[in-house]
Amino acid sequence: MDERTAFLKEITEAFGPPGLEDDVAAILRRRTEEFCQIGRDNIGSFIATKKGTSAEPKIMVAGHMDEVAFMVTDVESNGFVRLRPLGGWWPHVLLGQRVRVRTRKGEFLGIVGSKPPHDLKAEERKQVLDWPDIFVDLGVGEGFDVLEATGVRRGDFAVPHAPFETLANPNQHVVKAWDNRVGCALAVDLLRELKDAEHPNTVYGVATVQEEIGLRGAATSAEQVMPDIAFAIDVGLARDTPGYKGAEKAQEKLGAGAAILLLEGHVVSHPRLVRFVLKVAEEEQIPHHVTSIEGGGTDAARFQITGRGIPSMAICVPSRYIHSHSSLVDRRDYEATLKLLTAVVKRLDARTVAEIRG
Ligand SMILES: [Zn+2]
Repeated sequence: MDERTAFLKEITEAFGPPGLEDDVAAILRRRTEEFCQIGRDNIGSFIATKKGTSAEPKIMVAGHMDEVAFMVTDVESNGFVRLRPLGGWWPHVLLGQRVRVRTRKGEFLGIVGSKPPHDLKAEERKQVLDWPDIFVDLGVGEGFDVLEATGVRRGDFAVPHAPFETLANPNQHVVKAWDNRVGCALAVDLLRELKDAEHPNTVYGVATVQEEIGLRGAATSAEQVMPDIAFAIDVGLARDTPGYKGAEKAQEKLGAGAAILLLEGHVVSHPRLVRFVLKVAEEEQIPHHVTSIEGGGTDAARFQITGRGIPSMAICVPSRYIHSHSSLVDRRDYEATLKLLTAVVKRLDARTVAEIRG
């Protein structure tokens, strides 16, 4: 396994529910502390600063560290555990999957229980279970005190258990939490690309906390950095699978390069910034496509309304099956996005930023 693959494996497998992202921050710190100044905001967002030939303009490039996860809300006397979602889950994707529950006594494997079809009534088969009906089994059994052994209690966090693996297609890696460890990895790999290069600005490689429950670290980290331009790096939605209308012709597909987000929810990406990024992508011949997301959005939505406003947009890596145990990213899209970010940052001098800000 090459060095970058090992890094991507480590960072996607790391335990990082909204509110408890310290393990991810420690990995990012290790990768940048030799040549960056490291800081945090008051709720834990990671901020690595790399000064170029000028203190200004200030360019912020941010992924979010948290992943969709769970909190234990109830522990029954027989040892079964109930969860509440942290972030958007479709319970459909959970049954029969494994989770890792972290307690004061360590980390424990659990199974999201499911009924065998033999015992399902006709109407049950057609339903998606709701949270009160979902439970986790940490090894409940006669003669074994699961509560004593694991120490599980209300307030403990759990994340999907899903090891990093490569498919028959050697470019495709499957694992939990590409959303959005891919953005964190790109933010720090960008800093590494700039390590021995000239750039006419100061770059803030940021990894925010609590994006999945309301873009919370985006607010606090942008307030702390107060950049002139901000980029959110996140996963894009690949729409190239059965179930999407026109999937065969979709622009948003694995292997299509960096996804440039024009519109998310009600947020319009800064048009002059978008135009600039598209120009760089075309001139440098970096694979890319444009896209939009109707439901939900990225940290860019919050960056945009920080202070008196920060020109912002999101640049994404297309991904299939996000918010499940098995999200998929194409390695070539990672490389294309890294190349694009590096080229963009190298060109963002004071004059260019002034032109974009208008
Ligand atoms: Zn997400």
